Amino acid sequence: MREYCPYCKKEVDYKIEKRDVKEFRGIEIDTYENVAVCKECHQDLYVNEIEEKNNERIYELYREKANIIKPQDIVDLRKKYDISQRELTAILGFGKMTINRYERGGVPTKSQSDYIRLLIDNDNKFIEKVKEAYKNGNINDKTYEKIVSEEINTSIAKEQIQDNIRRYLRYALNRKPDIFNGYKSLDIEKVENIISYIASKVKNLTITSLNKYLWFIDIVSFNQRSVSITGLTYQNQKFGPTIIDKKYDEISLLDDKYIREDIETENGNTTKIISNGNYDLDKISDTEKEIIDTIIKILKNKTVTDISELSHREEGWRKTKRLETISFEYAMNLNIIK
Ligand SMILES: [Zn+2]
Repeated sequence: MREYCPYCKKEVDYKIEKRDVKEFRGIEIDTYENVAVCKECHQDLYVNEIEEKNNERIYELYREKANIIKPQDIVDLRKKYDISQRELTAILGFGKMTINRYERGGVPTKSQSDYIRLLIDNDNKFIEKVKEAYKNGNINDKTYEKIVSEEINTSIAKEQIQDNIRRYLRYALNRKPDIFNGYKSLDIEKVENIISYIASKVKNLTITSLNKYLWFIDIVSFNQRSVSITGLTYQNQKFGPTIIDKKYDEISLLDDKYIREDIETENGNTTKIISNGNYDLDKISDTEKEIIDTIIKILKNKTVTDISELSHREEGWRKTKRLETISFEYAMNLNIIK
């Protein structure tokens, strides 16, 4: 093993010394490095292959310990918005070849890494950054429009799908105020807010129990005020009253205020509703909220089976046949609130 020694100014024999490395860029790591040492003057020598191997080992540990993003994460971010390394560098405001270097395995500082990860995890933050870069003249019109218009199109498309579902539901569930909707016209937005509110209070809200919550809320309201709250129409189904013609399926797909989650269980699939927490109670009067809270309090800690059984005790279910629309006239005598 020979290498040029700048101290002895000649080719010399060298030996390898193993030294502990306990820290790198302020992060504790526990590894070693190999150092070439001149056998004649005992100075450290720089040997490229040895250094490369040291770096590889230390970088890998550092990446893992400091949770540094991987080259592929950056490539994926660029692919998502269809932008070049140069465009991404300009958006982030990093030095010229930074992104190129990181994609080839260079290790970002912890703060740069955290920053890039934030933009990867958060579309809005990334778009914000793009707008800022555009305002400061760091990216051109073409890059700006490519990224921002794509984002706008996606959110418009999503909005339209949601509006179409709402329009469809208004059409499918439309009926003049009568005894089958509790003398109330359907208000889809109100239904969405009520569902979001219930889901925020009830853990593990399945679609089966949600149907019962809504029915109980409406019949109790009718019982007390001769008018329902949601304007939904219900029918007799095996496990109790449900929104007519299984329209709860479409309702569960509206995801402004809550999301649906389909879960496989031993007994088949269940659908859960999870609140986004952004319900708007302005649409709900104080009296209505009181009724909703009462029902939540009664059903909250009951199982789906218990809730079904409670609904089976009501006249609305007992006095109607399977698939028959349930009249609110049966709401005059209720077991749920005695
Ligand atoms: Zn030497």
